[in-house]
Amino acid sequence: MKMQIDAQRLRSDFDALAAIGVTPDGGVDRSALNDAHLEARRWFLERADAAGLETAVDAAGNHSALLRAHDANAPTLLLGSHLDSVPNGGRYDGALGVLAALEVLRTVRDAELELPVTLEAIDFTDEEGTLVGLLGSYAVAGLPLELANPRGGRDVLVEALARAGLEESRLTDARRDPSQLVAYLELHIEQGPRLEGAGVQIGVVTAIVGARSFRVTFAGRAAHAGTTPMDARADAGLAAARFVDRVNRIVVEEFPDAVATVGALELEPGAFNVVAGLAHVSLEFRAQDEETLDRLQARLFEGVDAQVEPVARWEPTPLDPDVRTAIAGAADELGLSWRELTSGAGHDAQALANVTRSGMLFVPSQNGVSHNPAEHTSWDDCVNGANVLLHAALALSRR
Ligand SMILES: [Zn+2]
Repeated sequence: MKMQIDAQRLRSDFDALAAIGVTPDGGVDRSALNDAHLEARRWFLERADAAGLETAVDAAGNHSALLRAHDANAPTLLLGSHLDSVPNGGRYDGALGVLAALEVLRTVRDAELELPVTLEAIDFTDEEGTLVGLLGSYAVAGLPLELANPRGGRDVLVEALARAGLEESRLTDARRDPSQLVAYLELHIEQGPRLEGAGVQIGVVTAIVGARSFRVTFAGRAAHAGTTPMDARADAGLAAARFVDRVNRIVVEEFPDAVATVGALELEPGAFNVVAGLAHVSLEFRAQDEETLDRLQARLFEGVDAQVEPVARWEPTPLDPDVRTAIAGAADELGLSWRELTSGAGHDAQALANVTRSGMLFVPSQNGVSHNPAEHTSWDDCVNGANVLLHAALALSRR
């Protein structure tokens, strides 16, 4: 029988954590550095301490449990995720990955395995973007932080850092020496319906998709809605509507692995009785590699008569082949079914990919629901994920 994590110990931790910041509908509100989030982080260190593990908090507020290698100079294998949530989030997103990482350390310690690496279970600060987004993992990877113009606004950031006792000028001190890292490995719920739909137990993530966003402006001619005949109009709203339909059709028919969204549409002057003179469309699309993003972008704008202004761009992050092999190998050893897939959502693993071998495994999300109190993953799937995390970690630590 293969070594297994202690499913009951993991379950009791999972239930205890889910009660911290619980909302009336059974979700959680642990927005980064709010009271419930800080309480969850204290609880995490207490659990680590109770298990006889070393604990640490770095300059970016990342919380860690450590199982040291005998050799003081041994490099570190990071396992982790995040304990923060979106304002009305579910119990699994991030939490499962952190608790499974802690459970892996306890399992290795209980088995008295001596590994040539230090194992570290890390809870990254502000993954969800209440403040900056991926704040803790960017700091660890030495990537630039958006502190001047953070997503949640300056006031929210300053107040939250003060509440957590963190100093803005010192956040970047959390940077790790890449030569001291073996790899980063993260268990997470899929947050989409593909594993469940395919009846597969484990997802081996190949890449975190890249995204590009554009503001597209269609110009027409504002005109009287009663006196302007239909064939004499230059209706910017109609042009925008046709574009929205075109975007959907192109992606569905020609780019099955990509997604594209028009999330906002604004007409000017914007009245019942005026044909729209201007239409502003917010377009975002995501795909797993640069080449596909380039092709999709060219196709979406082909022959479109509009002013196109790029707004933002996130590069796709391929995940490490060694880590993918370790995850698939662990699933095979445990007799679990697996398939490769991409992640349409951002994760701390994309920050770590800049400095070490980084990889992720997914477990199925019931009905693909996430960022919602109804978020659910069967307990068997959670345990399977934790066991794959354990065996993938063992494989990577010995390589
Ligand atoms: Zn997450």
